[in-house]
Amino acid sequence: MSTRFPHLLSPLQIGSVTLRNRIVSTGHDTVLPVDCQVSPALIAYHQARARGGVGLIVLQVSGVHESALYTSHALMATDDGCIAGYRALATAVQAEGARVFAQLFHPGSEIMETADGMQAVAYSASRCASERFHVVARALTKAEIAEIVAGYAAAARRIRTAGIDGVEIVASHGYLPAQFLNPRLNQRSDGYGGDAAARLRFLREVVAAIRAEVDADCVVGLRISAGECDAEGLEEGEALAACIAMQAELDYVSLVAGTSASLGGAVHIAPPMAYPAAYLAEQARRFRRQLVIPLLLAGRINQPQEAEQLLADGVVDACGMTRALICDPELPNKVVLDQADVIRACIGCNQACIGRFHRGLPISCIQNPVSGRELQFGTLTPAARPRRVMVVGGGPAGMKAAVIAAQRGHQVTLYEAGNQLGGQVLLAQQLPGRAEFGGLLTNLQYELQQAGVQVVLGQMVDRALVLQQEAEVLILATGARPAPPRLEISGGMQILDGWALLRGTRPGSRVVVADWRADWVGPGLAIRLAQSGHQVTLAVNATHMGQALQMYVRDQLAAQLHRLQVTIIPYARLYGVDEDTVYLQHTASEEAMLCEGIDTLVLCQPLQPVDGLRQQLDGLALEIHAIGDCLAPRTAEEAIYEATRLAWRL
Ligand code: SF4
Repeated sequence: MSTRFPHLLSPLQIGSVTLRNRIVSTGHDTVLPVDCQVSPALIAYHQARARGGVGLIVLQVSGVHESALYTSHALMATDDGCIAGYRALATAVQAEGARVFAQLFHPGSEIMETADGMQAVAYSASRCASERFHVVARALTKAEIAEIVAGYAAAARRIRTAGIDGVEIVASHGYLPAQFLNPRLNQRSDGYGGDAAARLRFLREVVAAIRAEVDADCVVGLRISAGECDAEGLEEGEALAACIAMQAELDYVSLVAGTSASLGGAVHIAPPMAYPAAYLAEQARRFRRQLVIPLLLAGRINQPQEAEQLLADGVVDACGMTRALICDPELPNKVVLDQADVIRACIGCNQACIGRFHRGLPISCIQNPVSGRELQFGTLTPAARPRRVMVVGGGPAGMKAAVIAAQRGHQVTLYEAGNQLGGQVLLAQQLPGRAEFGGLLTNLQYELQQAGVQVVLGQMVDRALVLQQEAEVLILATGARPAPPRLEISGGMQILDGWALLRGTRPGSRVVVADWRADWVGPGLAIRLAQSGHQVTLAVNATHMGQALQMYVRDQLAAQLHRLQVTIIPYARLYGVDEDTVYLQHTASEEAMLCEGIDTLVLCQPLQPVDGLRQQLDGLALEIHAIGDCLAPRTAEEAIYEATRLAWRL
């Protein structure tokens, strides 16, 4: 048992429930429910985290009323048919020593989408127009309020009947209870709006109705934003006042930040890597001073060291480490065994966890493709016949394939032509706010060491070497490189590839970044250039900047670009340059768009696969697989997924 994390590993009492440690998987969407019910995949997902040693799992939101269905992938606790699913989940999680709560949820105006694609009829404290989803919500009548309050109570009864340890009322992120609390949204004059006590009435009735419906041992908690980070949002003082007023009726408060209602506020729902670790600590400290019940905090707490410090400082009583657990479900067990150094640390990229949710796809992790696919992958088993495996290319795809093949007992050698492992990640981590992306390499390097992979740097692989090594399996993971630009060029304008810029080539003072990829590279380069005093235009061949990005990552970049006064031109196809002009074409109208007075054009254009070795190997009697960018240039997520899928069955 580790002695480095005494606070994190100490038990915590919340109401009648004792947690074995202070590590919490907080409520998050998974897209694993089927027909709004608990599914075998959802049970397997949470069971993996319970087996990994987590203290508490808070399930994703459960709708309490038919008007609460904010996506077609939510859980609904609106009839007794849900009880069997919750029971199976509770049994599986509790059998592994973890405790489990369920979130009770009504989004109010924050309806994201409907199952049939029709625009929803949404409800709120008062009539309002929600900015992010462009929903105009109706004001609830008193009868409808009573129906929804009864819905909270009935949902709590069903969930408790199923054996779940507690319920958590979601008043965070601008959802319905927060819409009642917020004086800028709540304009009612019927006893549910007005002064703070009246605005609290809805929440007070919800808590009372739940308490009346469940047994005394059922934990009842509240999730709330310590400030919604939006001009119209609930403010910290208002949220704190509500917690103080309600704490006698509650067993704990779970603190987050932000709101679903605006793009800037929503970034805090899953803050990207540009936010510092544990960035809500000061807000939590102010809540801690005023509350006597246990306080949970989430928000970029990715490492046990950060969590231990928060607990040791008395800032909070437990830490939400949700993405850290998506990335490495074994994190708590590794902490217990004093193996914190081999934790696969979450890098806050948002790409495969919440990024997949926003595309309606089941949760996963860019670094751990088994997350959310527990049933598909099953248990990693030793290879039926260990073989000599050559992996060519030391980027994420090659590293991950080598790790898993070696874990299965194969004799694996990884060859990298350069003098450093990492591939394109080595460059990507140099972009502003992307340093943590390099954590992906740190994690993979630990995994390579642990798995006993032999790594050979500075070695080009050719047919002769393959023959000499008597490889039985060859995995090609040789990546991609920038393709030569297809451009009409006249005059002597400086033209640079984005990677060349990161390698140190100096641009002129007025720069166009031509961004075909619409991912984080173009905006990252534009930010870096603008921060060093260049006048920058970002010309994006997409409907908007960051079209390929998870929306919180995109919007955090959008805010930075705006503050730095970077000019953004969407719908922009690059077709030529002369001495001082970059020629663009509007991708919808086909009309010309000119950027004049330019010194340097920076290219973020399509990549091309590096796959020359494959042709050299024709006729050799060995098994050959291509994965990642050398198959087709995409992202690290596809590279690591393909590596995992291949090596798992090799
Ligand atoms: S996809 Fe990225 S942010 Fe999400 S859990 Fe994995 S590493 Fe963390």
